[in-house]
Amino acid sequence: MGVIRRLPEVVINQIAAGEVVQRPASVLKELIENSIDAQARRIAVYLKKAGKQLIQVVDDGVGMDAIDARLCFERHATSKIYDLSSLYALRTLGFRGEALASIAAVSQVELRTRPEGQEMGTLVEVYGGELRRCEPVAMAKGTSIKVKQLFFNVPARRNFLRSDATELKHLVQVFQQLCLGHPQVAFTLEHNGKVLYRLPVQEFKQRILTLFSLEEGELYEVDYRDGSYRVWGYVGGLGVASASAQQFLYVNGRYVRHGLVMQAVRSGFGTMLSGDRKPFYVLHLEVPPEEVDVNIHPAKIEVRFDAESRVDRLVERGVVEA
Ligand code: ADP
Ligand code: MG
Repeated sequence: MGVIRRLPEVVINQIAAGEVVQRPASVLKELIENSIDAQARRIAVYLKKAGKQLIQVVDDGVGMDAIDARLCFERHATSKIYDLSSLYALRTLGFRGEALASIAAVSQVELRTRPEGQEMGTLVEVYGGELRRCEPVAMAKGTSIKVKQLFFNVPARRNFLRSDATELKHLVQVFQQLCLGHPQVAFTLEHNGKVLYRLPVQEFKQRILTLFSLEEGELYEVDYRDGSYRVWGYVGGLGVASASAQQFLYVNGRYVRHGLVMQAVRSGFGTMLSGDRKPFYVLHLEVPPEEVDVNIHPAKIEVRFDAESRVDRLVERGVVEA
């Protein structure tokens, strides 16, 4: 008698959610990335109770038709890649096709979406991974997605969430990462009805200055090339370097963490930075897509370069010149 059973789809999604959805901030990241991939020009975020009660993202992007509005909650359903090779020529932030399935498995989701050229939109409600409602709805073009009561059906996870202040800090961090990477998009962020950020479409430099209330003279421009490799952006001067200075790195437009690059920026400062002071920076790295692997982490927050030492030299050189 065999003892092996195939798990139901809902359970598979709940298990997978453990990797993609750690906390409200991970939900926010996936939702904003989807809006950016949908070519939104305006993205509004509404949070209640540090995202534990509500995370809502409203965009004016391309929207979805009635069929896609249901399909988007299926695991491995994506409009962004077709085969493995497209992974290495990626132009979108998403590609795994599992964020919405995972999020919907551990929360109560309400999706409203309407594409251009269709009279009505579609409202879809998914409750702990189960489809509850799917009907036409009148709305503006774009997509609004509400994620309510995160982890309501996974008490262990829910109890693991930190204080509102801590969760909000993570949410703001994710918001900043995406805002800085996409100054061509207007963003707002509201928490418990209070506006925390309201950012119009801006130039890259202006976005940095606004977001961190910096002065023009505190930033130094970086722009350095080595063949098809390029590093560009801004590093803060010594005046804004501190133990808690923020550091933002984008590889081909995607926010990532990378120890090597962090070290390279620091090396660029030489002996000017003492002790535990860290440089502030917002840097973009452009490398040929086939020479960087973005598929090594479920939250897509890490990458691996083929030519590590080349990247290392490029970044250090760029900072030195700046
Ligand atoms: P991925 O982003 O990796 O494709 P997701 O689960 O995040 O996977 O989304 C599944 C699909 O749903 C996307 O490929 C996209 O076609 C659609 N989608 C999700 N969010 C939006 C949005 N805000 N606007 C338009 N389409 C969306
Ligand atoms: Mg996605």
